[in-house]
Amino acid sequence: MSGKGEGPAIGIDLGTTYSCVGVWQHDRVEIIANDQGNRTTPSYVAFTDSERLIGDAAKNQVAMNPVNTVFDAKRLIGRRFSDSSVQSDMKLWPFKIQAGPADKPMIYVEYKGEEKEFAAEEISSMVLIKMREIAEAYLGVTIKNAVVTVPAYFNDSQRQATKDAGVIAGLNVMRIINEPTAAAIAYGLDKKATSVGEKNVLIFDLGGGTFDVSLLTIEEGIFEVKATAGDTHLGGEDFDNRMVNHFVQEFKRKSKKDITGNPRALRRLRTSCERAKRTLSSTAQTTIEIDSLYEGIDFYSTITRARFEELNMDLFRKCMEPVEKCLRDAKMDKSTVHDVVLVGGSTRIPKVQQLLQDFFNGKELCKSINPDEAVAYGAAVQGAILSGEGNEKMVQEAEKYKSEDEEHKKKVEAKNALENYAYNMRNTIQDEKIGEKLPAADKKKIEDSIEQAIQWLEGNQLAEADEFEDKMKELESICNPIIAKMYQGAGGEAGGPGASGMDDDAPPASGGAGPKIEEVD
Ligand code: AMP
Repeated sequence: MSGKGEGPAIGIDLGTTYSCVGVWQHDRVEIIANDQGNRTTPSYVAFTDSERLIGDAAKNQVAMNPVNTVFDAKRLIGRRFSDSSVQSDMKLWPFKIQAGPADKPMIYVEYKGEEKEFAAEEISSMVLIKMREIAEAYLGVTIKNAVVTVPAYFNDSQRQATKDAGVIAGLNVMRIINEPTAAAIAYGLDKKATSVGEKNVLIFDLGGGTFDVSLLTIEEGIFEVKATAGDTHLGGEDFDNRMVNHFVQEFKRKSKKDITGNPRALRRLRTSCERAKRTLSSTAQTTIEIDSLYEGIDFYSTITRARFEELNMDLFRKCMEPVEKCLRDAKMDKSTVHDVVLVGGSTRIPKVQQLLQDFFNGKELCKSINPDEAVAYGAAVQGAILSGEGNEKMVQEAEKYKSEDEEHKKKVEAKNALENYAYNMRNTIQDEKIGEKLPAADKKKIEDSIEQAIQWLEGNQLAEADEFEDKMKELESICNPIIAKMYQGAGGEAGGPGASGMDDDAPPASGGAGPKIEEVD
């Protein structure tokens, strides 16, 4: 907890098509499901006659309300209207964009019967509000602090606009971090890096519509982006399209009808294809079943993983080019890459994994964390560290180590006390002046008990403090009465320990570190 009464800091992966939120809780990251039970939420905002919808609710009605359903705000944020990327992206969007003041792209929608204009950061702020609400519903507290991620290639203007989106959403954006950095943090690669010096990490992020490759170096917890490459328009949707085209052809062959002019039929086919694609990541074959796809004709078919791979092989191979480019730009050989991290839902495709693994000569890929969640995971870790929740853990650990240290100290002291007592007592009885005053039987009794204690010590170096203390008491109970009797018998003639010469060899007897002979005076 941040200590100000507000809830913990959350980590938000503000994605182009989907967003994800995580929080550090019970010593681990929890990726939080939304009200629909989904762990990622569409970065969609829709405006209707009566309400504003965000997330799944917005995406679910997109077909009915395309011009007032805004998505891809991340492709606009912090850019100018005249940017070539904005100009080309615009052609694909059903919603209206126009240049505002200072060449800022403005989004126009109809909301409650009136035309409204929004900047991209305002749309993103609505997505951030949704992510915040998801976390608040789960945690039952108000959330104020967040770490938000951005692509490594974002410039200052894009980063600032993302920060502004956080402020509009009423969040304190503690830090903006790079998505590949967050993914590396999720795998703890910064921690592992310290033991082997500088570490080179390649992050392969293949999502629904974007592809990013980044090369990072990590040294002593410092992340440096060495190079980035990718394709802003390559991802899962392209693989879906290949399958859609395949089945459009098949439907044409089977029924002699072309569905390409029918958006509803195409949409239903696309949805089925996306589902089939996901299934093929874990099975060798799957089915497509769409009742009354077109003009009352049902469409049932099957597709194998091998066929799907063949349909997409050129795209999959294309994914390896930015990897090579990234290495080239960073002037690094692939053999010097320590870790390859998978991010983005499309990295679940076995062929993509295989091509990448082959490229790195069989290297194991970091894929144990859900690839859609790895970025939010790392952001949540960072949030915990920044708000002191991770550092809290360090304090707990420090306390634990402190008490372990104290335990160890007690043990060492008890062992030393026993050792000192035994050796000092041996020296004492070997002293001529004292030795001659001791009856032989008593002397032997002490010698035997000392010998036994020393042997016990040798075999029990790792004993607990109380075991050493018990042994000490046992030895004292044998030796002390004999020594006391000796001094009494001597009538104080020997002058006690001070005059006996014992002090020359023995440390002061107080504190339990040596024979407690003075007790008898
Ligand atoms: P992201 O933008 O990271 O959420 O990635 C979403 C993309 O990953 C979409 O195109 C999904 O169809 C795709 N995806 C999700 N799960 C799988 C899967 N099991 N196999 C193949 N693609 C998947």
